[in-house]
Amino acid sequence: MISLETIEQARERISKHIRTTPFVMSASLSELAETQVSLKLEHRQLTGSFKLRGATNAVLQLTQSERDRGVVAASTGNHGRALSYAADAIGSRATICMSHLVPENKVAEIRRLGARVRIVGLSQDEAQVEVDRLVAEEGLSMIPPFDHPWVIAGQGTVGLEIVEAMPDVAAVLIPLSGGGLAAGVAAAVKAVRPDAKVIGITMEKGAAMKASIDAGHPIQVEEHRSFADSLGGGIGLANAWTYPMCKTLLDDVVLVSEAEIAAGIRHAYAYEHEIIEGAGAVGIAALLSGKLAQVEGPIVAILSGGNIDMALHMKVANGLDTIGEGR
Ligand SMILES: *Cc1c(COP(=O)(O)O)cnc(C)c1O
Repeated sequence: MISLETIEQARERISKHIRTTPFVMSASLSELAETQVSLKLEHRQLTGSFKLRGATNAVLQLTQSERDRGVVAASTGNHGRALSYAADAIGSRATICMSHLVPENKVAEIRRLGARVRIVGLSQDEAQVEVDRLVAEEGLSMIPPFDHPWVIAGQGTVGLEIVEAMPDVAAVLIPLSGGGLAAGVAAAVKAVRPDAKVIGITMEKGAAMKASIDAGHPIQVEEHRSFADSLGGGIGLANAWTYPMCKTLLDDVVLVSEAEIAAGIRHAYAYEHEIIEGAGAVGIAALLSGKLAQVEGPIVAILSGGNIDMALHMKVANGLDTIGEGR
């Protein structure tokens, strides 16, 4: 478990490097849910997602010689962006390993954020082999996307900001994949307000944490294409931190369909004037779907990220509500 004190220390440590994101009441969702609904606008975080908090907290806890050698990860998504930015801001250097299949715009974006890019092989697994080699042979520090106490404590700072903005919060809706955000936010919120409900929200297909909690141990699930691409991937069969924390701390895990996620993206755009990615929309999706009708307010939904391809966003805004399995 991660203590409130550890999360408070993380906040102190990262405060100069991250944004305290806006917290706003949603008139449209409050009316619909018949209780007060507020939104934590974490998609407005630097690099476009909350992942910067955990990555920054991790890099800041490395020794000077570890920072000098640099950090490494295989993620080309929000964790890779966040780690690239955090390392650059703190005077370290990130190396992001990726396969030849990663599109050029993603490579360029990671470079723009100050990282070195290593392109190897034709799969994520081959990129991971290169990560392991750089750790073993060049002494780089691997910073994982969720299953590490420094990362979880950093993500938990979102929870501190929520309970401060709304001390009587009754339920927090948290986008859930590997569970770093959910574990950290749940630890912070429950420490301050033990009666508050903490609910993980994820997509119907490939919900690894939900399947693992149901099975009683970490399991692998088949991956599917989703509007919530940032929620893809497993939790790791050797999961040490986020699985036990999510299993203990989450009051419920709610699943949303692709059409519901699309409706969440559209609602955020039309009524809140916010551009959010699918993973960031699952809380709104769950509220719109009626699946949270029994949940008492005040409710806070975390909009976790905004990195969506704008051509895709336009299609969703115009009504697209399924995403093909192919590429
Ligand atoms: C990574 C990510 C999540 C899920 O976070 P976990 O800590 O893996 O559960 C949710 N939303 C966005 C935008 C993300 O980038």
